[in-house]
Amino acid sequence: MAGIVHLVGAGPGDPGLMSARALELIAQADVILYDRLIPQDALAGARPGCDLRYVGKQPGDAAMTQEAINALLVELAREGREVVRLKGGDPFVFGRGGEEAEALAEARLAFEVVPGVTSGVAAPAYAGIPVTHRDSASAVAFVTGHEDPEKEESALDWEALARFPGTLVLYMGIKNLALIAERLIAAGRPSDEPAAVIERGTLPGQRTVAGTLADIATRVREEGVRAPAITVVGEVARLRETIAWRELRPLHGRRVAVTRARAQASGLAARLRALGAEVVEAPAIRIEPRPFDGELSYIVGGIDQYALVCLTSPNGAAILFDALNHHGRDARALAGATVAAIGPGTAAELARHGIRADVVPERSVAEALVEALEHVPVEGRKVLVARASQARDVLPDALRARGAQVEVATLYDTVSEPLSDDARAGLEHADYITFTSSSTVTMLLQSLGSGNGMPEGARVVSIGPVTSATARENGLTVHVEAEQHDIEGLVAALVGDAL
Ligand code: SAH
Repeated sequence: MAGIVHLVGAGPGDPGLMSARALELIAQADVILYDRLIPQDALAGARPGCDLRYVGKQPGDAAMTQEAINALLVELAREGREVVRLKGGDPFVFGRGGEEAEALAEARLAFEVVPGVTSGVAAPAYAGIPVTHRDSASAVAFVTGHEDPEKEESALDWEALARFPGTLVLYMGIKNLALIAERLIAAGRPSDEPAAVIERGTLPGQRTVAGTLADIATRVREEGVRAPAITVVGEVARLRETIAWRELRPLHGRRVAVTRARAQASGLAARLRALGAEVVEAPAIRIEPRPFDGELSYIVGGIDQYALVCLTSPNGAAILFDALNHHGRDARALAGATVAAIGPGTAAELARHGIRADVVPERSVAEALVEALEHVPVEGRKVLVARASQARDVLPDALRARGAQVEVATLYDTVSEPLSDDARAGLEHADYITFTSSSTVTMLLQSLGSGNGMPEGARVVSIGPVTSATARENGLTVHVEAEQHDIEGLVAALVGDAL
């Protein structure tokens, strides 16, 4: 039986604007034919073994012709494959999806069309421009700026566009913008009409250049605006001054590097992005759990004997439960113990596994935990401190001094993660570099190598005093230190500095 072809819009670039149906189809596809302007990581959800084929244009590269793409779609569907044809924005808005659908209909093959958020609406929306407005625009026209306005037989009726009673949204018009503006003015469109060009709409580094129909082309040239960009001509472009909601976000235009381990970075990265930051993911470390069958099996086997179990990081809490699980045990193994967490982040991780920590200091440092444990009886009792291999001995030392029989279990090692070229390039232009532990500091500096140390001009943000001390010992200036030593506190401190 022939397969089905899905003509799918992937939206304008922000991965969050992909539809639920698009994600579902990508996850099911046997083969995906995709273009250049699809969101980064749009294909991340494809199943292993899915045949991914790039069929878009690349500057300087011979593109696959539309006829060849149509023929390929037909051929793959006849082979019985589930095909996703993935395009930027909406497949039927300047996406040549119409031609592909015609070819499939002609071949009597089944197909589905999944609309996408088109850049002509999304880029203005992200720039604070509504393409229609009750007071100033009752119609909107989507116009291609691709064709050469000098050519004798233009498909575009410039007089009609000049008279059009509403907003003009121009796709693919950056190269021809001067001529387009000239044509529109010559045909009677007011030269002082507001206009705006949005470059890389909805993507990191989105930029808007505003002006009037008369000067927009010059401004765009001066600012070096490049494709992909959308041009909006109309009174609505003025509204941007009031409703440019993205630019109003506290970290708009700030580039913030996240150095924590990739597996832990997503929460921090998402918060920073939501506040408008452009995030550079530059993991400096990686967490490597110790083998569960080594020393850890001994600890897990005897865990019921400890009167007090102390966890000193969220990673540690997560790995302890992985180890328990590996040995067929669960939270009940801690039923008899007093459980202490070094701070709210670690307590939250414990809570995810069904354990409400008995002791949680507000400040996530060993000294604070020692203090918080003052009234917990430990003398002559067995205490487990479960932690990373590289850790300070403040806690075990203090407990031993109080007569406890302390065992230290090493749950994981923190190892250096080599910097990718992208991360290295991103770091060079960072406005802020965030450090969430001492190891992120030392290992980032190690990866950067001597000589080309920290990027100049970047402000150093530290999660707390221990991390700050390590940074200073390594010759860094700490510009911002979180008052609350967790991710939330770090973000709050960064925002405070950026305002
Ligand atoms: N089908 C797409 C349009 C494809 S034509 C859609 O519905 O959005 C390619 C043109 O789309 C580009 O030249 C540019 O004008 C516009 N475009 C696509 N992505 C864009 C983006 N992220 N920001 C601004 N313009 C974009």
